[in-house]
Amino acid sequence: MKLTISSFSAILVGSLTLLMFMLWMLSLLVLSDRQNEQASNTLQHNLQAQVQQLQQSQQLWLQSQYYLLSSLAKSPDDNQNFQSFLWGYYQRNPSIWAVNLVQFNDRGLPLSRSSKPGCLQPDQMLRANFDDFLVPRISVCRIDDRALLEIAGPVIADGDAIVLLVSMDYLDFLNEFSSLTDRKLQRVVDTPQGFQFNEFATVANDDELIRIEIGVPDAVYGELHLKSQPLSFWVLFRHQAAVVLAALFLGALLVLLLLHRFLLKPMQVLAGKMRLAVHGPSENGMATRGDIAPGLGKLVEYFNLMEKTARLDPVTGLNNRVIFEDRLSQAIREGKRSGRKYALVLIDLQGLDEFVQQRGQYMVDALLRQVAEGLRETLRESDHLARFERNMFALLLEVQQLDQLHNLVEKLYLSLVRRYRVYEREFELRAFLGVAIYPDQAVDADGLYRNASIALVAAEHGDWPIAYFHENEDETDTTGFTIIQSLRRAIERDELKLVYQPVVDLQSYHTVYLEALLRWKDPEGHDVSIEQTIRLAEENHLIKSLTNWIIESACRFVSEFESGDVAVGINLSMIDLHDRRLPERIGNYLQQYQVKPSQIVIEITEGQIMQEPGKVIEVLAHLGVMGLSLSIDDFGTGQASLTYLKELPVEKIKIDQSFVRDIATNPDDQLIVRATIELAHTLDLKVVAEGVETLAVCEMLAEMNCDHLQGYYICRPLEAEQVAGWFETTVKPNLVRKGS
Ligand code: C2E
Ligand code: MG
Ligand code: MG
Repeated sequence: MKLTISSFSAILVGSLTLLMFMLWMLSLLVLSDRQNEQASNTLQHNLQAQVQQLQQSQQLWLQSQYYLLSSLAKSPDDNQNFQSFLWGYYQRNPSIWAVNLVQFNDRGLPLSRSSKPGCLQPDQMLRANFDDFLVPRISVCRIDDRALLEIAGPVIADGDAIVLLVSMDYLDFLNEFSSLTDRKLQRVVDTPQGFQFNEFATVANDDELIRIEIGVPDAVYGELHLKSQPLSFWVLFRHQAAVVLAALFLGALLVLLLLHRFLLKPMQVLAGKMRLAVHGPSENGMATRGDIAPGLGKLVEYFNLMEKTARLDPVTGLNNRVIFEDRLSQAIREGKRSGRKYALVLIDLQGLDEFVQQRGQYMVDALLRQVAEGLRETLRESDHLARFERNMFALLLEVQQLDQLHNLVEKLYLSLVRRYRVYEREFELRAFLGVAIYPDQAVDADGLYRNASIALVAAEHGDWPIAYFHENEDETDTTGFTIIQSLRRAIERDELKLVYQPVVDLQSYHTVYLEALLRWKDPEGHDVSIEQTIRLAEENHLIKSLTNWIIESACRFVSEFESGDVAVGINLSMIDLHDRRLPERIGNYLQQYQVKPSQIVIEITEGQIMQEPGKVIEVLAHLGVMGLSLSIDDFGTGQASLTYLKELPVEKIKIDQSFVRDIATNPDDQLIVRATIELAHTLDLKVVAEGVETLAVCEMLAEMNCDHLQGYYICRPLEAEQVAGWFETTVKPNLVRKGS
C-alpha cells in the first residue's frame, strides 16, 4: 500500500484528534461523579443560606409587626381604633392569623386572654417570663393540625404588663421560600415532630435529595426535601460537546496547516530531490511527489552517509582530517597531563597524478587502499592514522625513545616505497615524510602541524625523503635539513671519505699514528664544515651510523694498508661515548677487518668526559681493556679533572692548537704548554702538540720536551692513497730543517 506524505500527515493528525476526543470522553466519565457531588454540595450550601436568609428576614418582619401591634395595644381602651386598625392590618397582611392580648394580675398571673386561641400554654403565660425579653419570643405551635408561628412579648400599658401574641400561618411563611428559590414545594408529611416538604413532582431518590432543616436555631420545625439535578455523562457531554468538538476541529486544522507548512512541504521537496538524485527527472522533467516511506528511507541513508563522510575517508576507510585533528588535540591534552611525547608524521605521496592520467581514478583508489593497508600493518593499534587530502596521510605516534621513532619512520617509509601491484599492473610511489615532535618542537596542535609541514617541505626539497623538524633552524631555512638528508644519503652511498693526518714522534720522526679526519662535499660539490656536520648528525640521531661508517672505513684502511703496520686515530662524538655498546661495535669491526686494538687510537675531548663522567668512563675503561689507546683531544680547552685523567686508561693528551700555534711569540702560551707537558709527564702521559705550523714552534716544542707533533708543518691531512707515499718519502719538511 502506498502512503503519500499528505495522507500520512492527514492520518497522523486525524489519529491525534481522535485520541484527544477519547481522552476528553474519558475525562467526562471520570469527572462526572465528582462534579455531581460538588454540584450537590454547592446547591445545598446555597439553599441553606437562602433559607437562613429567609428566616432572618421573616423574623425581622414578625418583630416589626409585633412592635406595631404592641404600640396599638398600649391603648386598649380605644377599641374602636384598635378594631379598625386590626381589620386594616389583616387586610394588608393575610398571614397574620390572630392577635391576642393577655393581662396579668399583681402576682404576675394571666388575668384574661382574648377569645381567639394562642399556642402559648397558660403556665408559660407568666409575666416574669416576659419581663426579661427585650425581643419577642418566637415559637412554632400547632392548633387543629395547623402549624402556627407565634410571637409573644410583654407590652406595658398604663403600668400594667400585657402579653401580646401574634400568630401566623407557618405555611404562608414557607411559601416565601418558594417564591425566593423558584422551587415548587409540596407539603407531603406533617408529623408531630414537624413538617416535611418535598419539591413538587420529584421522585424520591435519596442519593439526589437535598435535605434542609428549617426552624430557628434552638428548634427545628421541619425539613425541606429538594431534588438536585444530577449531572450525568451525557448531560456533561451535551454541555461541552459543541465547544470541545469545535476546538478539536480547529486545533487539528491548525496542526495540519503547520505540519504542511514547516515539515511536510520541505520533506516533499527533499524526497523529490532525493528521488531526482537517485532516479533522475521524470518524463516531464519534474520530480514526482513521492511516497513517504522510501523518502524517509533515503533520508536515513543520507544521514548515515553524511555521518560517515564527516568521519571517514571514503576511499581508504581511514579517519579523515576532522577526526585526526580532534585526536591530535586530545593527545596533546593527554601529553600535558602525563608528560607523554607524540610525533606527528605527515606523509606526501608523489606520482599519483601521473598514475591517474595513465590508469584512471579507479586504479588510484585501489592503490591508495593498498597504501593505507600497508601503513596500518606497520603501525601499532594505538597509533592514529588518517588520510588528509588526495595525496596526504598523517600519523600520530606515541614516542617512547627517539631511536624507536627513527626506526619506525624508516620502516613506514620503506613500506610506502615498495612495489605495488594494482590490477595486474606494477607501480611505484615516491613518498616524503615530515616529522615534528610534541612537546620538543611545539606545545600545541597548530604548532606541531606547522612544524611537521615545514619538515615535509624540507623533505620534498632535500635529498632525503624523511625530514625531522629542527627547532634550532630558522623555519624558512632548510639548509640544516638539506645537509642532514644529504648526509644520510652520503652515508648510505659511501660518498664520505676519510683523510689521514700523521702524528709524528718528535725525537725519531717516526709516524705514531694517522688521525682519521672526515671529509664530505655537499651535493653541489662544496666542502661542508665537518664540525657542523658532526653537530647536525648528533642532533638528528645520525651520529651512530656516521661513526659506524668512520670506524669501518678506518679499519678497512688499516687492513688494506700494504706498506706495513699503521695505527689510526679515530675521533669519537659525545653521543658515541654514551652508547654502552660502542666497545662491542668497535670490537666487531676490528674482528671483521682483522685489525689489532693497538692499531686504533681513540680521540675524545675533555668536555666529552665531563658530561656524565660515570657513564663515559665506563665505556672508555672498556675500550682500554680491549687494548685500544686513548688520547684526550683539544687538551686545555675544557676542564677535565686530573682525577679522571688518572682513572682513565689514557695514554696521550693532545694540546689544543690554539695554545700551540703562537707558542714561539706568546710567552703565556709558552707557559701553559710547558706546564701542561710537565704535568702530563708527571702523570706518565705522552703529549701531542697539534696545530704545528712552523719550524719555530717545532723547535720550541722540542726544547719543552714534547713527545709528538701534528700540524701542517709536518703534514697536511692526506688522501688515503697518499698515505703510502708519506711513509715512503724520506725527505720530510721537519727532517730537512732539523737536519740542516
Ligand atoms: P680535531 O680532532 O682537533 O682535528 C684537528 C683539526 O685541526 C682538523 O680539522 C685538522 O684538519 C686541523 N689541523 C691539523 N693541523 C693543523 C694545523 O697545523 N693548523 C690548523 N689551522 N689546523 C690544523 P678538521 O678536519 O676540520 O676537523 C675539525 C674537527 O672536527 C676535529 O678536531 C674533530 O673534532 C672533528 N672531526 C673531524 N673528523 C672527525 C671524525 O671523523 N669524527 C668525529 N667525531 N669528529 C671529527
Ligand atoms: Mg682529533
Ligand atoms: Mg684537536
